Amino acid sequence: MKHRTAALVALILLVTFAHQAGAWHDKTHLAVCRAAGHDLWFNCAAPDIAKLKAHSREAYNHWFNNIAEVEVTPRMVLEQVERYNKANRRLDSEGHLPGAIIGALRAYKKDLQRGKYALYHLVYCGHYIGDLTMPLHMIAYDGFNKKHHLANDGIVEETILDEPEKITQYMYEIKLGDNSFEDDLAREIARIANLTRKLGYKLRAENRVMTQQEACVQLGHSASLFQAVLRHYKKPAPPPDIQAEK
Ligand SMILES: [Zn+2]
Repeated sequence: MKHRTAALVALILLVTFAHQAGAWHDKTHLAVCRAAGHDLWFNCAAPDIAKLKAHSREAYNHWFNNIAEVEVTPRMVLEQVERYNKANRRLDSEGHLPGAIIGALRAYKKDLQRGKYALYHLVYCGHYIGDLTMPLHMIAYDGFNKKHHLANDGIVEETILDEPEKITQYMYEIKLGDNSFEDDLAREIARIANLTRKLGYKLRAENRVMTQQEACVQLGHSASLFQAVLRHYKKPAPPPDIQAEK
């Protein structure tokens, strides 16, 4: 009996932390932020490290399971912002990744206004925008998701930092108005979230891992959106090697 209880606890921990550990792997996150022109790109995997100590408070910012498989709307994104950095297993069991992107930017603005060092909030934002295009973070965490999560997370990890053009070739301009920034951002987050969840359903229907090309298209959406956010804050600083390759 004791053994059975211990085994059950181990299983629960495994399931919990398997989910928390899942995300694009580190270099993939770095590559997205670098392609977007973030000067702190080398920090963009740090929000996954933060989960080790902050646990659910941080982890719920990294996925949105969307169990009902509904269309993500800009309004839904804005409604999730209040849940940023909160973990309520009963009311928020699906996570709130789309809202966390705007939550991080509100925190950035707040710290800026208080005269604090605020740049780490942009690192969080860049990381969440990266997670936004990971298809298995935007669909139910079911048997298919658990089985294929790790393989999808690392699909381009080995080479992507050395091959930035694999992301930049899929980048495009996203316009976020100065006077309608948050509404425009919510609209773009919702658009990309819907593309991403649909890719997730496709992978599930075909019972397969995404291809490297599908991953690079996804990462192109993330880098494009983060670049637009950085441009709004007048922060883009493309590294010379990426600039030269364009
Ligand atoms: Zn993450």
